[in-house]
Amino acid sequence: MAEKKKRADAVIIGYGWTGAIMAKTLTDAGLSVVALERGPARDTAPDFEYPRIIDELRYGVRGDLWQPLAKETVTVRHNLDEVAVPYRKYGSFVLGNGVGGAGVHWNGQLWRASPEDLRLRSHIEERYGKSFIPEDMTIQDYPVTFEELEPHFDHFEKVCGTSGVAGNLRGEIRPGGNPFEGARSDEYPTPPLPPIYAAELFEKATAELGYKSFPLPAATVTSKALSAAEIVLANSKTIHDATPNRFMMLRSSAVHVSGGRKSPDHAAPRGMSASGLKFSPSRKHKRRQ
Ligand SMILES: Cc1cc2nc3c(=O)[nH]c(=O)nc-3n(C[C@H](O)[C@H](O)[C@H](O)COP(=O)(O)OP(=O)(O)OC[C@H]3O[C@@H](n4cnc5c(N)ncnc54)[C@H](O)[C@@H]3O)c2cc1C
Repeated sequence: MAEKKKRADAVIIGYGWTGAIMAKTLTDAGLSVVALERGPARDTAPDFEYPRIIDELRYGVRGDLWQPLAKETVTVRHNLDEVAVPYRKYGSFVLGNGVGGAGVHWNGQLWRASPEDLRLRSHIEERYGKSFIPEDMTIQDYPVTFEELEPHFDHFEKVCGTSGVAGNLRGEIRPGGNPFEGARSDEYPTPPLPPIYAAELFEKATAELGYKSFPLPAATVTSKALSAAEIVLANSKTIHDATPNRFMMLRSSAVHVSGGRKSPDHAAPRGMSASGLKFSPSRKHKRRQ
């Protein structure tokens, strides 16, 4: 006989980033939530333990974290005259599958949308004229502005645990960061990843040509000491509480791909997990350099 489960207030279909954030927000509001995920359940241990996590054949070649395209896929066409055909071989566009979704194998580059991204039609029309965008191109402005989203970008960067240099802090353009970004209300919670040798060469070469390079904004906690992200976690209700293992996964994968030199002072805290964190809660946290 079918097992009858307790009724839930909300059902979330798919448990990637979006589903997890919604689940946390709804449970914080006092609702009971069930998430239905089509792929396998995953947990920090044992799924992301070494050496299992570096199994290139399983993950890199056989795509164990991805949606199996033989079972279910999307169709693609390049223009309106083509017949849409099923996408059967992965290229750069990889679909997530299982708890954590595509966030399990993302690269941990944490770019904010720019003010121009969010009002792209207006921006292009102002810059190149109204006739520049072809009539059948459905490009639109978003219904939200950068200013409206900024507090949420800031919150997410602290909850997720990120590193970088603010290039535009409350309207002031600052050296070392991205001078083209929208105005931030705050710095990144931890300092940028230390440059690898290739990045040092790139920075030197571009500076000589008059360009401004900057470290990648990364979903990697670089400070060994308690980061601002952890202070936020300790003091507020956050997504972290609901999905501790997934956030651990995201952090480890980010450290992996970003290629930062792993010096003792800059390595992401080893074995850090929400349940294992030791907090000294204080809102008066100073950014550690
Ligand atoms: C290889 C790769 C690298 C990336 N790198 C970056 C990066 O560096 N920086 C960045 O910002 N972004 C990056 N991204 C994008 C980022 O990972 C995604 O935008 C983000 O994870 C999307 O989250 P989501 O919750 O919206 O969707 P998903 O993560 O796709 O989650 C959707 C979930 O729903 C489940 N699902 C789907 N259909 C059903 C169904 N019918 N029933 C039940 N469950 C279902 C899926 O299995 C999946 O778990 C990368 C993506 C990929 C693929």
